[in-house]
Amino acid sequence: MRKSFIAGNWKMYKTVQEAIELVTLLKRALSDIADIEVGVCPPFTALGEIAETLFESNITLGAQDVYWETEGAFTGEVSPAMLKDIGCMYCIVGHSERRKYFHETNDSVNRKLKALFTAGIKPIMCIGEILEEREAGQTFDVVKKQLEEGLSGITGAQMTDIVIAYEPVWAIGTGKTATPGQAQEVHQFIRQRLSQRFSAETAETVRIQYGGSVKPDNITDLMKQKDIDGALVGGASLKADSFVAIVKGALVTSDI
Ligand code: PEP
Repeated sequence: MRKSFIAGNWKMYKTVQEAIELVTLLKRALSDIADIEVGVCPPFTALGEIAETLFESNITLGAQDVYWETEGAFTGEVSPAMLKDIGCMYCIVGHSERRKYFHETNDSVNRKLKALFTAGIKPIMCIGEILEEREAGQTFDVVKKQLEEGLSGITGAQMTDIVIAYEPVWAIGTGKTATPGQAQEVHQFIRQRLSQRFSAETAETVRIQYGGSVKPDNITDLMKQKDIDGALVGGASLKADSFVAIVKGALVTSDI
């Protein structure tokens, strides 16, 4: 049985003080949540303080990006070992904003995944099509390529530690959500591909989050879908009340 995972991607928001305030509210409001995993991915600058604030809580910590080298003259970059050292359990890789603004490719996603494993950090690998691709009927092709190239050389054992976030780019930060049916058909496709590439057993263990304008009023219907195992939440994770409402709204039994 997969444990659903709701993670907040705070993007480039929150000073350290604001981040501590938000996570303190989340800790209090979500202290009794055990059936769902809850995580937050603050900006790098707040990771250290948030790790301390979250100590011995039921909320896990992730970063939003990483560089694949161990150390060296790579100004501005952060290594997997540095993230581990500061207390991260997860790291988002290949978010569409990084693909769009910072030239992230399937190849760099692949390098980052492999580097994260050397430090024992679990990747949250983002994939998804842009609007033109969806309208041209290319969604499955795009997702298939992102999976094939991004997961090149990844073993079955590693795959069970990867969280896939299916995020149709046209739904991110736009207020447009994929319908539960649209999301489910891509999630099902992703699981089938994982089954072919690894094994049915591996595919059944991998958690596939949906991301794209997830809000308190749409999470429950999304979570009722068989292959949707949680959400990567951007805008609505920046306020305690909406993120808490999303986590509580996700506490539904899936239709499996
Ligand atoms: C995201 O940043 O991954 C995301 C899904 O953003 P939003 O929820 O704001 O669409």
